[in-house]
Amino acid sequence: MSAKRPVPVPTPETEPYWAAARQGQLVIQRCGDCGEHCFYPRLVCPACMSDALRWVPCSGRATVYSWTEVRRAPGAFADDVPYVVGLVELEEGPRMLTWIRSERPEAVRIGMGVKVAFEPVSDDITLPVFVVDDA
Ligand SMILES: [Zn+2]
Repeated sequence: MSAKRPVPVPTPETEPYWAAARQGQLVIQRCGDCGEHCFYPRLVCPACMSDALRWVPCSGRATVYSWTEVRRAPGAFADDVPYVVGLVELEEGPRMLTWIRSERPEAVRIGMGVKVAFEPVSDDITLPVFVVDDA
């Protein structure tokens, strides 16, 4: 018997991200002054320190920047093994730490195309995850 998986708790800064995920859309912030995209959610642009950040939709396509296959996991994640945790680089530029879902975890490779998918875990939280992009 394992512990219950922790669920993210939205904050005022992250609520737009979670609201979009509930609707099946991946959003990140884009700076209205310099045009840079950023992730994770924040109050000021990491490139120019402007506070003119706006939420914009993503294509949902990314490439695997790095990854690891977890075969032994502590309590809350013990029932999920094996699973792949990856750092994916969104088409828009930012990198996102995420699950990479695959029937064949051993086939995940750096540079592989992946696309977003959504996994509801509670009434309020739907997790964006990534799956191998066959398109
Ligand atoms: Zn900026």
